Amino acid sequence: MKGVGRAMSKRLFVDCDGTLILYDRDGAHPGGVPKGEPHAYNRPLIDSVRAFIHDHPYALVAVWSGGGASYARVIADVALPGMNVAALVKAEETFDLVRSWDIVVDDQPIAVPARVFRPDEWTYERRAAQGG
Ligand SMILES: [Mg+2]
Repeated sequence: MKGVGRAMSKRLFVDCDGTLILYDRDGAHPGGVPKGEPHAYNRPLIDSVRAFIHDHPYALVAVWSGGGASYARVIADVALPGMNVAALVKAEETFDLVRSWDIVVDDQPIAVPARVFRPDEWTYERRAAQGG
């Protein structure tokens, strides 16, 4: 069954505005970071993403945004510096990347075939080290 483990590994899709990046005011803040909107990083979520990457170095981890792949790259670089994540547009054509067993974190409901966790709902802790 060579390769099954990787094929079945979970992918992680994380939204930008309202999810990785939190704003002082409610409501939509499309592309808010480069526009200078006051914001904060969602540290618990960022810590969980980093832990997930540590444990699943070959899994696809995508930071995606309805604002486009370039904006997602900006957010990935400031929120997850040095981490190997893909930056994607979040749109119908990329929803097909999501499988039913994947993890999706978003502050808005989106039409993907997996559970969509709220930004404060999904947490991941690093597995304990296995021996040496
Ligand atoms: Mg959002």
